[in-house]
Amino acid sequence: MRAASPRLIGLAAVALMGVAPLLPFTPAFWITLAGYAGLSSLVAIGLVLLTGVGGMTSFGQAAFVGFGAYTTAVLTTSFGFSPWATLPVSLLTTGLAALAIGLVTVRLSGHYLPLGTIAWGISFFYLFGNLAALGGYDGIGGIPPIRIGPWDLVDARAIYYLIWLFVLIAVVLSHNLLDSRMGRAIRALRGGGAFAESFGVDTAEAKLVVFVYAGLLAGLSGWLYAHVQRSVSPSPFGLSAGIEYLLMAVLGGSGYVLGGVVGAGVVAVLNDQLQNGLPKLIEGGGNLDAIVFGILLVAALQFARAGLWPMLRRLGPPAAPKSVDLSAPPLPRTPPPDKGAPLLEVEGVSKRFGGLVAVNDVSFSVRGGEIVGLIGPNGAGKSTTFNLLTGVTSATSGAIRFRGERIDRLPARKIAERGIARTFQHVKLVPGMTVLENVAIGAHLRARVGALSSLFRLDRAREAEIIAEAARQIARVGLAEHMHKPAGSLALGQARVAEIARALCLDPALLLLDEPAAGLRFAEKKQLAELLKRLRAEGTSILLVEHDMDFVMTLTDHIVVLDFGAKIAEGAPKIVAESPVVLEAYLGGVE
Ligand code: ADP
Ligand code: MG
Repeated sequence: MRAASPRLIGLAAVALMGVAPLLPFTPAFWITLAGYAGLSSLVAIGLVLLTGVGGMTSFGQAAFVGFGAYTTAVLTTSFGFSPWATLPVSLLTTGLAALAIGLVTVRLSGHYLPLGTIAWGISFFYLFGNLAALGGYDGIGGIPPIRIGPWDLVDARAIYYLIWLFVLIAVVLSHNLLDSRMGRAIRALRGGGAFAESFGVDTAEAKLVVFVYAGLLAGLSGWLYAHVQRSVSPSPFGLSAGIEYLLMAVLGGSGYVLGGVVGAGVVAVLNDQLQNGLPKLIEGGGNLDAIVFGILLVAALQFARAGLWPMLRRLGPPAAPKSVDLSAPPLPRTPPPDKGAPLLEVEGVSKRFGGLVAVNDVSFSVRGGEIVGLIGPNGAGKSTTFNLLTGVTSATSGAIRFRGERIDRLPARKIAERGIARTFQHVKLVPGMTVLENVAIGAHLRARVGALSSLFRLDRAREAEIIAEAARQIARVGLAEHMHKPAGSLALGQARVAEIARALCLDPALLLLDEPAAGLRFAEKKQLAELLKRLRAEGTSILLVEHDMDFVMTLTDHIVVLDFGAKIAEGAPKIVAESPVVLEAYLGGVE
């Protein structure tokens, strides 16, 4: 018998949520509570994407709930709008607010970002409270209920269904977004995500997309809230509410969309229990719930970082691997440069880090269909040279030309567009994503499909092409059997090879490999050497940094030797191998 599929279990859960309110023994307060949990779920799902997946911690989401709620409150009570008519306006207001706030906030790095969100979380609370048009701290009352046909949704059951329908939509859209080209870009943001720029990902854009998306979900929650509560006032949109939303995401499992839903449910029940229980336990304990939540947040961060959802998820069957359709049409390719034609020209390039000259007036060139070795002792400046070529850092002086065009002032993303791909000496894969998904980031520039179309699965044809390309490149480097494993489970040598597959997905004219053979066994090295020869035969030029001299000597057409940042020799492998200066640099002098 086959194990029940995750989809089946999901459907069962949805069915249970669907019939529960209709059962005679379901208490009425439970239905109300579940409705509120649904409202919070929307915000928490947004936070999962923003904080858990994208790595941007926000304490200020409650403010966006406020934007959504106040917009509809004002329009329905003062201007006679119907609730449904205000839904797009509420979303637009929230979206624009998120865009404006996001433009200044997502640029902040490290701890400044969460501090920034606290700042605007507090500001908007006071703004809501001090604007006379918004009713000050008393807020706005008399908000009409949502109508469907002839029915006013005032009954807790009706509201419950409406809210959870929106939650279901949010869950599906969020899954769609994460499982797409933009989703992979967002998932690569955690821990900086700068490497993704080397594959053409506009990380600032990805941050903004997820920020606005999370804001929109919060705005939707606010719109619903206003019509459920029938009144709004500033207090539910303040900083403590923002902390509570964050607690939901963290408790539930901030890396998982459904973690947001589970967390919202747990916090709703806790909230209810605390409000009833605490005052009984402790005299005047009405406001102690904030303290309890604070302690819970810290405890969850200390002891259960992944949250509840992964534990629940383990009870079910494993998720099906992402489907790969190898019959999908190939992605467009750029014709390789002519054999022997000048491709890369490095002219007197230097890079200083403070007093240290990491690269000192280095010049060399790479031609079409050539493998050039860049060798030298540790600290010679090889990786820094790679960073200069790919725009990860910019040169202090000198010029770099690629296919005749100056690229030394271009950002990494633009250099990737021109057909330079690289691997990193210190592997930069996203450990929680599968090898397939990681490698697919390499094809980011070759199938441009936006976030909006992926939300509604209009990107499936392009997505199949991207995934097929990633699968082909993985097979090409010999990792096919590891395709569906998390990248974090690969051995270091395999992870380096996976990086080569990712670089190949870019369809590069020039491939920069930083110590690709490190950590490989003998047979694997041979296999890698064969692959590089094949690539050269197909017209791809390669710049290779490698310490294994046999590997370098048998493979390269030309070698450039660096020592203390300066070029000390270059030429055919044989000549370089016998050069006294080179032997001196490596061995510290020869007799
Ligand atoms: P290689 O790859 O040849 O081993 P690197 O290019 O990594 O050498 O480093 C060259 C020199 O530049 C080393 O002395 C290193 O410490 C220094 N260096 C590299 N990156 C930085 C940086 N971001 N800031 C300061 N110094 C750096
Ligand atoms: Mg290095």
